[in-house]
Amino acid sequence: MRLQQVWLRVAGGRIRDVRPLEGEVVIEREGQCERYPNCWALPGFVDAHGHLLHYGLELEQPSLRGCQSAEECVERLRHWEPNRGEWLLGAGWNHEHWNPPVWPEAALLDAIFPDVPVVLRRVDGHALWVNSEALRRAGIDDETPDPPGGLIVRTATGKPTGVLIDAAAELLLRHIPPPSPVEMRRALLRAAAQLVRYGITEVHDMDVDPQWVPLFHELATAGQLPIRVQSYIRAQAGQWKTAGLLPTTGEFFQLRGVKFYADGALGSYGAALLEPYADAQPHAGILFFSSEALEQAVREALQTGWHVAIHAIGDAAVRQVAHLFHRLGAVGDPEQRRRIEHVQIVHPADIPVLAEAGVIASVQPLHCIHDAPMARRRLGMRCSIPYPWQSLLSAGIPLAAGSDFPIEPPDVLAGLAAFCLRLPPGETMPWYPEERLDIEQALAAYTIWAHYAAAVDDRRGLLLPAYDADIVVLDRNPANCEPAELSTVRVVAVYVAGVRRWPAGEALAG
Ligand SMILES: [Zn+2]
Repeated sequence: MRLQQVWLRVAGGRIRDVRPLEGEVVIEREGQCERYPNCWALPGFVDAHGHLLHYGLELEQPSLRGCQSAEECVERLRHWEPNRGEWLLGAGWNHEHWNPPVWPEAALLDAIFPDVPVVLRRVDGHALWVNSEALRRAGIDDETPDPPGGLIVRTATGKPTGVLIDAAAELLLRHIPPPSPVEMRRALLRAAAQLVRYGITEVHDMDVDPQWVPLFHELATAGQLPIRVQSYIRAQAGQWKTAGLLPTTGEFFQLRGVKFYADGALGSYGAALLEPYADAQPHAGILFFSSEALEQAVREALQTGWHVAIHAIGDAAVRQVAHLFHRLGAVGDPEQRRRIEHVQIVHPADIPVLAEAGVIASVQPLHCIHDAPMARRRLGMRCSIPYPWQSLLSAGIPLAAGSDFPIEPPDVLAGLAAFCLRLPPGETMPWYPEERLDIEQALAAYTIWAHYAAAVDDRRGLLLPAYDADIVVLDRNPANCEPAELSTVRVVAVYVAGVRRWPAGEALAG
C-alpha cells in the first residue's frame, strides 16, 4: 500500500518511523508536527523525461498555448519587449488547433514588430514561426536552400513565409544569443520551483549540454535545488566524451546517463516507421544511426558506467533499439539501466525482445492523448500498436512516466488521468482502451518504477523507514477517485529530503 493516511517521522532527510492513522496525514520533523486533515500521502512523484532549462526559459517567455488563431498569438505578444538581447522569443503555438489548421506567416508579426526579431517555437519544438526581421538577421531568403532534414516553408514563388521546420530552424537559432549565466540560473530555479508544485520531487533531465553541468553542481552544492535531478547528457555527437564527463553521485544532482536519438518525431514525419506514413507515401522517416554506429556508441557509454537512454518513436527505431540492447545485454552492469524514450509505435514482435533485454520504457501519457488525432493520420492501418502501455507491462517491461516538459506541462495528475482514460481532448471514446492502465499501475509509473529507471528504487518510491523523505500530500486518494476526477486532485504539500519545499519553498524561486 503506497498511498496512505499516516504519521511519518522524518529526520536527516530520511523517513525514520511510519504509523497508520485515520483521517489525516501527520509529518513530524524536528519535534514539530505538520497536520493535513483529510489528506493522503504518497512517495513524491518523478517526471522521468523533461528538459529543465528549456522549461525554465519558456516560463519567462510569452506563452501561446491555447491560442485559437495566429491573430490571437500576435495579440498576446503585442505588449512584450525583447527578452533575449534584441530578440523576442516565445513558444507554445499549435496550428492544428486553428481553423483552418494552416502554417502562420511572418507578415502578421511584421505588422506589430517591424524591427524586433521575433522567434516563436511550435508547441512540439519542431518548427519556428518567425518574422521578416528574424529571417533577415539569419540571412535566410529566397536563395537559401533547405538543409538536409529541414524545410523552409515558402510561397509559390519561393519566398520564405516565416516557418522553419526541424533542421531549418537551426539556421536561425544559431543567430540568437545564448542565455547568460544569470538567466540560466534564474530559469533553472524557476523551473524547479514550478515542478515542485505539481508534486514532483525528482526529474530525469534529458539532453543536458555539458556546459550546463557546472551550474547544476553549484546549485546543488549550495542547497538551492528544491528537487532532485538525474542528468542524461547529450551523446548524439559524443558530447559527453568531448567534455570529458563521467557519471557522478550526489543527493540532489547526479550525472546519471547519456541520451541518444534513434529517430525524430511523428508530428514532423521524422519518426522511423517500418511501413510508410499513411499521409506522406512513400516517406517512412529516417534512422539517425546505422545499427553498427549506434551499437559502438552505446557500448562505449555502457563500458564507461553510464546508464543509456535512447529516443525511439517509430516502430523501425524501436526495433533497432530493442535488438541493440539485446545484443549488448552482457555489456556493463545490470544496474546501468537501459531505457527507451517515448517508445510510441511498437510492432508486437519487438515487445518480447525489449523484455528480454531488460529495457525500461519511458513513456509520456499526455503525448498519447494530445497526439492521437495526428497519429491516426500518420499511421493509418498497420499492425504496430501506438503507445502500447499495457502490452509493454504485460511483457514485464517497467514503465517510467514523464511529461517531456516543456512540450507538455509537468502535470502529474493530468498524466495519471491520461494513463487511466486514454481519452483525447474533445473525444468521447478512449483510444486503444485495452492499453489503458489502472490507477495502481499509473501511480507506480510516476513513483517506484521511475525510481527503478534511475536505479534509486532501493531508497526512494516507498513510504518506509530508511527511505528518503520525498513525500507528496494530496487532498484526495487517487485510488478512490473516478478516473475522470483525477486531474482535479490537488497537491497540498511536497517534501524533499524531509524539508517542505511547497508551499513553504516558494522563496527558493529567487
Ligand atoms: Zn524530450
